[in-house]
Amino acid sequence: MAVRAAGWAFLGILLATGALAAERPPAPPNASADSLPLATDARLGGDESQTRFVMDFSRKIELRAFTLADPYRVVVDIPQVIFQLPPKAGESGRGLIKAFRFGLVMQGGSRLVFDVSKPVRIEKAFVVDPTDGAPARLVLELAPTDREAFLHKMAIDNRAARADLPRAEATDSRGSDPRPLVVLDPGHGGIDTGTKGPSGEEEKDIVLDFAQRLRERVEKSGKYRVLMTRNDDTFVPLADRVRIARDAGAELFVSIHADSLPRREGDAQGATIYTLSDTATDSAAARLAEKENRADVIAGVDLKSEPDDVAGILIDLAERETKSFSAQFARKLLGEMKTVTRVHKSPLKSAGFRVLRAPDVPSVLVELGYVSNRQDRQSLLSDNWRNRTADSMAQAIDGYFSAHPTSARAGTN
Ligand SMILES: [Zn+2]
Repeated sequence: MAVRAAGWAFLGILLATGALAAERPPAPPNASADSLPLATDARLGGDESQTRFVMDFSRKIELRAFTLADPYRVVVDIPQVIFQLPPKAGESGRGLIKAFRFGLVMQGGSRLVFDVSKPVRIEKAFVVDPTDGAPARLVLELAPTDREAFLHKMAIDNRAARADLPRAEATDSRGSDPRPLVVLDPGHGGIDTGTKGPSGEEEKDIVLDFAQRLRERVEKSGKYRVLMTRNDDTFVPLADRVRIARDAGAELFVSIHADSLPRREGDAQGATIYTLSDTATDSAAARLAEKENRADVIAGVDLKSEPDDVAGILIDLAERETKSFSAQFARKLLGEMKTVTRVHKSPLKSAGFRVLRAPDVPSVLVELGYVSNRQDRQSLLSDNWRNRTADSMAQAIDGYFSAHPTSARAGTN
């Protein structure tokens, strides 16, 4: 056990150096919906030699623009705003900009992320005051550059930005409460909508509502504590989700998602339960992990600033045990879920999901169903189905802990 404890302490140090704090600052007092600036329109102009982006705002705002590599992106951080843009805004591009996304990244902060076709230089990034009748305008101008210059500029910008980033506080919420802690992780959020249904249903909303129902049910027995990685429509980077679970001393981590398939790839249906593996069960599982792992890219997170995947002899032991607990929980979950809902034809799979990488917290990722399948979609949007399925998952969590009275973390205290 000493080896494991040392391994965890070692990991704690590595993970605590992450750039983003798990604890989010409270919303500023003026963040009520009617006092937030509105973004009302967005336009692209120019060509491959110079591309211009303009966004209209109800009042002047501050901005910070920077670039990210692999894939090449330009990120513009602004205060929290309400986006009232035309439908499909950002879906198609022009010039150097292939597409752009926008949304909340944290309480008080919104973000624009531009996918660009090659290395670019930010020539201009500023906001023009509103003038009689004309709204305030954010202007971003990009020109092509080469990779070397791009990376050089990015390194300089990052050094400046790192200096004033908040530090993650390693907090162990166990305190004197000995009850096992379950972390529920609704996928996506904020700028990252996740997959979308044909009538615009967004995965991030479906899974948040589902996780809240599950939380209620798990807490009801009084036997467990529950912590959510997000409780509203904000973005949480993948590494932070793992860090939240580890810092809080979680004994079980359940990530909740809903999948979809493009029409040409057939019509899969039913729930699937995933555990972590470096070798995916099949190519569909590998593709799905890749898709879910893109959340950070979508939201403009610099993957290089995240701690490396931790590996080494110290954590091997813990990892092996964690894997076996994860697999046991996955089977228990399947057993309960299939009594109340349809499951996929091969419902237990594994692949390299970044969010399942805590070496010391048994973790599974549940794809509740496919929003691309009509029957699954009806289920996913149904109150009754959500309640029934959340009941079955709460049952499985209780069953898992009954079978592990001493729990996976017993050696760490
Ligand atoms: Zn997802």
